[in-house]
Order: sequence, then structure tokens, then C-alpha cells
Amino acid sequence: MGLPLPPPEVEEETRRAFAKTPLCPSCLGRLFAKVDSGLTNRERGRRVLASLGLEAAVACWLCQGLMEEIPAFADLVAAALEGWDFDSFLVGSRVDPDVLNREEILWTELGLDTYEPIKAEINREVGKLLEARLGQTVDFQRPTITAVIDTMMDHVDLQVAPLYLYGRYRKLAPMPQTKWPCPDCRGAGCEACDHRGTLYETSVEEVIAAAVMPQVEGEDHTFHGMGREDIDARMLGRGRPFVLEIKRPRRRTLDYEAVALEIEPEGQVSVSEMCPSSREEVVAIKALRSEKSYAVRVRLGSPTSLAKLQEAVDALKGKEIVQRTPARVSHRRADRERVKLVVDAEVLQAHGTEVELRIRAEAGTYIKELVHGDDGRTRPSLAALLETEAQVERLDVLEIHDEGAHGQGLQGSKAPDATEVPETTSG
Ligand SMILES: [Zn+2]
Ligand SMILES: [Zn+2]
Repeated sequence: MGLPLPPPEVEEETRRAFAKTPLCPSCLGRLFAKVDSGLTNRERGRRVLASLGLEAAVACWLCQGLMEEIPAFADLVAAALEGWDFDSFLVGSRVDPDVLNREEILWTELGLDTYEPIKAEINREVGKLLEARLGQTVDFQRPTITAVIDTMMDHVDLQVAPLYLYGRYRKLAPMPQTKWPCPDCRGAGCEACDHRGTLYETSVEEVIAAAVMPQVEGEDHTFHGMGREDIDARMLGRGRPFVLEIKRPRRRTLDYEAVALEIEPEGQVSVSEMCPSSREEVVAIKALRSEKSYAVRVRLGSPTSLAKLQEAVDALKGKEIVQRTPARVSHRRADRERVKLVVDAEVLQAHGTEVELRIRAEAGTYIKELVHGDDGRTRPSLAALLETEAQVERLDVLEIHDEGAHGQGLQGSKAPDATEVPETTSG
């Protein structure tokens, strides 16, 4: 292997550049980075100088000593990363605009297309030093932490990837799924909200986050549920899938059993099946449309015979119904008709005007409207079939039939911004 001597035309350019603008070996070698590979810019620069019989500049016109600071930048990043869990990282940099400006002047002047930008060299060389030091690898695709060096201020900013946790929750007491800021004070705290800043005392999100956050030392969280039930509806069965997104976590591992045990004694919420998740899964559970089973307690306008009730329920079972956008949501949804399948329906209890049903229906079915008919906007309805009024007194979600959806084909698909929250139907 011979020395990578610069070709004659490069030799002349080098002499010209060097006469006008003395460069350090790194800045010189970087001008010809694409001429050969397998050398660092510094090594290449030294060999070029040697082959031309030139001395390295004491003060570099371009970087003014910046390239000598690479080991110091690696120290800075290592110090900034202390106390953070990560299994891959990436180095970025913000370089003095004056340096970038001089760099461009030189490229233009020499008319070269073999150069590499100074930022690329800083990022790569600092990254190499850190790989050796930390025993971790640089990851361009999906780093846990990106350390951005400000070379003027000698400061490092850490961009930390969120941590995603999957689980299913059961809810036994009335509360919203997510934190609900007080509309009067918008979270600042006022008399109306008892200085909590939230409309409700707690939420599923807050109960779960209270157990998770101390373990991962995150700064904030966002809750992504697979749909949501009404505030006063219980969520039973195996529970509802969710992903908790934790912003800027210092720790990335947690004791799931401890989290579940800490939540359980409150008695209002419980969690199960907790495991690591991803941004892709957030998108997937938002998009998944599953059948659901409900327990519906209904009060009828007048008593009916069990035979007639059974007949009405049988008339809904396995049938497609037509639902116009319910009056209660028509101010925020387009008014249109949807055909929904009532997969199954059965009478659980009936005492006079008090009736309890189990209904399994296609995703997006408006259950309350299926019962009371919404002034003929849902056809048929339990009320119409019984020829009496019917009001839902209690609506609980018994089961979400999302069998096997978790963890299926979720890796590697491209995900849009995970903070977007699509609208959900009731239940
Ligand atoms: Zn230099
Ligand atoms: Zn308030």
C-alpha cells in the first residue's frame, strides 16, 4: 500500500490554499476527504503536507484551533451523559457561523468537490472517542440520546428519545382517561377546581403516571389509549390497551410488577400486561378498530314482559343498524349515516322497568343511541322495538376484542407525530 499522494491537480490546489490560508492537518485533509478513504482527515493532511514538503500551520486560518478541541468535546459530552440511561447515541454540533463562513469561502475559492464539512468531522471524531469510552455505538437511525455540542459555548444539549410503555387498564371509579385541565384557570389552579388545576380529582393517566414516573425520572408524559370510555363508565374485563409516553426519562428500565402493585391498592385503576412499547404501537393502537362488549343498564318508560324484551333483543342480534351522527355530538362531527353491526345481544337481567343487557358491537357503534333511538336517528333501536322510552343508566365496557393485536407487525413501520390524538367514539 503506497502513500495516498494527492493527484497533481490537487497538489497545486493544496499549495495555493496553503500559501494564502495556512491550515491545520485536519482542515487540510478535510478538503480532500473524498479523494481516498481509510484515513482520518488529520492523517491525510499530515501525509499531504509531508509529500509537498510543507510544515503544518501553527494557527489554522479556518478552524482557529477548533479541531484540537475534539478530545475536550468528547469529555464534555461524556459528562453531560452521566446519569442518563441510553443504549445508543448520536453526536451533533452547532459550530461558530464564522468558521462555517470561512469554510465556504475556501471551497468556493478552490472550486473543490472533494471536501467534507467541518461539522461532519467533529460529529464523527467525537463519536468515535465516545464509542470507545462508553462501549456504546453511534446510531444514525434511532439514537436514544443525541448530544448536540455548541462549540462556541462549550455546552452540550441532550435530545432524549421518549420511552413508551404498553399496558392495559381497568377502571372501576368515574374518572376521565387523561388529565383534564380546569377550563376556568387552564391548569394554573383556582377556586373552581380546588386549586388542583384539573377538572377531575384524578385520571387514569395520572394514577398510572404516579407509579411510573418516580422509577424512570421523566419530565412529562402523554397517554395514548385505544379509544376511551365515558368518564362514568367502568372499564372491565382484560382492560383497555394504552401506551404511556414518557418525555426525557433518565431511566429506561422499570419494574413492571412494582408499578402494578403500587397502582392496585388505590382500587380505582389497575394495570396488567405492561411491557416496553414504541412510537409505532401508538399509531397502531390509535388506528385499531375493535369490537367491544358492553353491559348496559337501561330504564324503560313502561314495564314490559320478558318475552317482548327477548324478542326485541333478538331483533337486534346479528343485525346491521343505521346510525345518523348522534344529536349530542353533531356540533363537532359531520352529520352522516353509518351502518354498524350488532354482533351479539342478550338479556342479563330484567326487573320491571330495570333491564340489563350485554351488547357486542362493531367499533364505533353508539350504544346509548342504539338503546334510546335518538329521535329516530338510530334505526332500529331498543326503544322503537319495545315501543317505549329507554334510557341508559349505566354503561360499562366489558371487553375490548383486540385479540392478538399487541406487538403484531409494529416494528419498523413509519410513524407520524405520535402526539396527534384522533377523535374517538364513545366507548
Ligand atoms: Zn483547522
Ligand atoms: Zn381552576
